[in-house]
Amino acid sequence: MTTPPFNQYLGVKVERFDPDKSIATLRLAAHHLNRRGVAHGGVVSSLLDSALGAAVIASIPKEWWCATISLSVQFLEGVGEGTLTGTGRVVRRGRRVAFAQGEIRDQKDRIIAVAQGSWHLWPFRPGMQGGESSPHVIVAATGESIKVGKIIGIGRNYAHHILEMGGGAGDAPVLFTKPAGAILHDGGTIRIPPEAGAVHHEVEMVAVIGKRCTAVSREEGIEHVLGFAVGLDMTLRDLQKQARERGEPWAAAKGFDTSAPVSTVTLRDQVGDGSGLRITLDRNGKRCQEGTTSEMIRGVGELVAFASRQMTLERGDLLFTGTPAGVGPIAPGDVLEARLEKVGSLRVEVAAAESGHRGR
Ligand code: ZN
Repeated sequence: MTTPPFNQYLGVKVERFDPDKSIATLRLAAHHLNRRGVAHGGVVSSLLDSALGAAVIASIPKEWWCATISLSVQFLEGVGEGTLTGTGRVVRRGRRVAFAQGEIRDQKDRIIAVAQGSWHLWPFRPGMQGGESSPHVIVAATGESIKVGKIIGIGRNYAHHILEMGGGAGDAPVLFTKPAGAILHDGGTIRIPPEAGAVHHEVEMVAVIGKRCTAVSREEGIEHVLGFAVGLDMTLRDLQKQARERGEPWAAAKGFDTSAPVSTVTLRDQVGDGSGLRITLDRNGKRCQEGTTSEMIRGVGELVAFASRQMTLERGDLLFTGTPAGVGPIAPGDVLEARLEKVGSLRVEVAAAESGHRGR
């Protein structure tokens, strides 16, 4: 037997989900009252949490999840009988937080209590990742889900990283791809494949293509970008080194499941052309990669032009634009936090792959 959610257990009924006016009701019974015969504070709070929470839920996409951060209740009147009606509305909604307020009235239309609270918003239910829906990214401002067709990576786009990898600063960029299914969303877990050798983090600005283009110019390139995200180009470094030495493709080194963690997308009109943005990666709270996108040898417009000469780019394609210096190994138990100025942040954990895992 499973216990119903607390508000249902109390008898709270959510009658309407609406960002502007959600409604939850509760018919008072003896077990809701304290010794003085008025509704218990916890009962009143729970009804408000339900009404305000319903407004928040109505304001986010279906697959999103939210949790109450704070709820402040002012109790105005005691009430001992009849049906209480709670209403809630969202007063402000940001990318990861929503503010809501509301009130409870009794049957005589007296205001019993008022409340305001804040809610944390996630793009996904905790623990949910991959497999359950086709690969996609989510636009933070609107919650719109954009299907991802392909993921293109650019190697050798920051001089310092080229040098730390033993290359020459004048080396041409290299283009590689990852399967779209390699996407991992904020809050997910990177699964290190068995016998993978060294696995490295590469924090990168990700450009999301907004419309189809083939062989566009550098100037046109930026116009085809819908927005930006921050991502991690997870790389099996030993395998990549081996492939390089043998002149073999990088597919296995770059394309394992969960090898493309990516944040929500911030639209281009909020970000500009993607230059001059501070980009960082913290591993277990310690800064390990830091740079600005101005250090990129080729800017976003030029990279779109470059990639679009190799293959037609479609709406929803992701372009990983290269990593600044400071790449290094990760291990199970690590927490990685990537940030890109004006764009957003991404937090993922690291674990060993489950063995014998078939399907999802
Ligand atoms: Zn990379």
